[in-house]
Parts: sequence; structure tokens; C-alpha cells
Amino acid sequence: MRLVGLDAMVRLQRELLRRFIKTVDRQDSRDRRFIGTLESLAGLALSCACKRPRKSALRGLNGTRPQNFCRFCGKPVGLKSFADDDSQVRGNDDNLRLSSKYCADHQPLLPSGASNPAYKRAKRSVEQFDIELGRLNRQCANRGTPQAASGDPLVDRYFHRYLLSQTVQPADKGELRNQARLMVDSKLSDRKKQILILQWDGLNQSEIARKLGIERQAVSKALKSLASTPKLLQLKE
Ligand SMILES: [Zn+2]
Repeated sequence: MRLVGLDAMVRLQRELLRRFIKTVDRQDSRDRRFIGTLESLAGLALSCACKRPRKSALRGLNGTRPQNFCRFCGKPVGLKSFADDDSQVRGNDDNLRLSSKYCADHQPLLPSGASNPAYKRAKRSVEQFDIELGRLNRQCANRGTPQAASGDPLVDRYFHRYLLSQTVQPADKGELRNQARLMVDSKLSDRKKQILILQWDGLNQSEIARKLGIERQAVSKALKSLASTPKLLQLKE
């Protein structure tokens, strides 16, 4: 890790914060103030980093324009990532296929010319993606209390708890978009979010079922279906 510059400063602050939260943090008012201070510092460094003019020479493209995200996730659009990354250049005709709306993973067409199933899936779920992104943005902007405004107190609490264990900042637009994508791709429905937050509260499957007015088997099935989703989404990290 090159410990020079604002980006490194942000990374360092985040790493310190992450280690603190995982070890020393007792969640008392002093620790919360400490976390708040570190978050402010990282935010400040990030703001400075965002304002800094980019000198990197992008081949023929305007390097100072704001980063454009893929419509379906937090990765840069084809044109931008093409400009940043030599390894993406696969041949002259590639230029023609690179879209300015989607990242390399979500291009409508695969390099072979066949239609891309990842694009189709993402297109079908774009509404849910926008919903989850909105919730993440609202919660991230003020992480002290549940702020997701999902219309369901348990889902709001899920987002509150989910973001408490992370150091992602409102300015990390790409990261938040990737998290919304992950939620949708993991098929993490609101029902599953309710089950997960109640599980986090320490309720067993029967208690969760009673609370939600569903069968215990439904709870058990939902939890089984979550087994392979990232631990962070399961509130287990
Ligand atoms: Zn994408």
C-alpha cells in the first residue's frame, strides 16, 4: 500500500475504523465520538480527494468529467473502464461494442455477439435496485438511527444494523451501488430482511415465525436459502 496522498489517507482511516469497530469498540458515548471523528476525517479526506484535479491522461477522453456508473451497479461504464484499463482492450471492434451506459459485466451483448444474461437479469430487477439504493443512501447519510424509510420498521432496522457494521460513506457512490446490486442479486427480499433482523435480535425460528405471522417452516426455508449469501448481508459480520 502506497501511504501517500488523499486516497491512501481515506483507506488508512477506514482500516483503522474497521479494526477499532471489530476489537476495542464498546459502543459507549466515548467510542461513538471516536468513531464519529474518524468518519469525519475520512469524509474530509475523501472530499478533498474528489475535488483534486485528475492529471491521469485518459486516451482522448476528458479525464476530469465525473465518473459515470453503470446503470445497474457501481462499476464504471464501458467507455470509462476502457480508458482506465489497458487489459480491457481486446481488439479494434471492441470500441464499437463498449456502451456508455453499462459496465463490462452488464453490457447487453457479450463479446461473442450473443445476448448477455446478466444484462437481462439486471434489467428485470432495476426497480428493486433503485429501491435498495435509495434505502442505502438514506441510511448511510445518517447512520445513528433507522433512516431507510422503507415503510416497514423491521426492514428499516435491518438497514440500520447492516450499515452500522461498515465504514462506507455517503460519498462512496460506487460502493453503495454495488451493495444495492448485491442485495438484489442475492434475492434478499424484505421478508428475508425482517427475518434476519429478528434473528440478530436473538429470536429463534418459532419466535420469528410468530412475530411475522408466518409458518416456522417458511422461516427455516428462508434462512436456508440465505446460507450462501455474503455474511455481511446476513448481519453475521
Ligand atoms: Zn454494471
